[in-house]
Amino acid sequence: MTNALFFQCLMKFHKCMKNITEPDAKNDPNKHGGKIRSFPHERGVWATYVYIQYKPPEEFLEMVEELKKVSESHGIILNTVEDFHISLSRTVKLRHHWIPLFVDSLKAHLSYFSRFKVALQSLDVYENEEKTRTFLGLKAHTGFEKLEKIADKVDSCLLEFKLPTFYQNPSFHLSCASCIGSKTEEIEKILADLNVVFQLFLNSHSKCNQIWVTKICCKSGNKLFTFSLK
Ligand code: AMP
Repeated sequence: MTNALFFQCLMKFHKCMKNITEPDAKNDPNKHGGKIRSFPHERGVWATYVYIQYKPPEEFLEMVEELKKVSESHGIILNTVEDFHISLSRTVKLRHHWIPLFVDSLKAHLSYFSRFKVALQSLDVYENEEKTRTFLGLKAHTGFEKLEKIADKVDSCLLEFKLPTFYQNPSFHLSCASCIGSKTEEIEKILADLNVVFQLFLNSHSKCNQIWVTKICCKSGNKLFTFSLK
């Protein structure tokens, strides 16, 4: 970051951050909006990620319960995720005084996108990089190109702050449930059965796999920023 940009940051910090308080590190430091933070709490550094929010209808949650039952019958105990979302970035460490500039950059980069539809078509298994948690997620097929373009723009913003970008081969998904440990192999063995549960659900709730995306969210610590699409 250049000196001029750093100075700009400081000015913005004083102007815009008066009402932002540091998230309480004692208040479950490992969790961040339903995502598990893979790094310890550091003063002045906020866990930050960009995502699409999903508010599941009751019947969707029932389908997730069914997936959990099938997994349990094979000895795999899954927990429903806290906040349903489609990630558009990794969880990165953002310095407190960079937040306003990062948010401005996101706003500028995302303002050209119009609303679009995402359809979730199949279940897949995901693991975090540390291999400490395994996720059962619904993969986005329809809407993939748009998600990729948005994630590219988010990457551009992250690069301005020398922060890690998203996966080279992103697999956009909505995690439904997760378990502790590296359980990909075990879950893949029962993935066909789990997909049957999902397909049966779709037969009776044909639109329940569709998400109409009208805004992009960014969470930094306990602060939420939203960017409406055109
Ligand atoms: P999320 O529910 O978005 O937090 O994603 C669950 C996990 O999937 C994260 O810990 C990611 O690191 C992981 N993941 C693994 N491979 C990929 C991929 N190709 N694209 C997106 N996420 C991935």
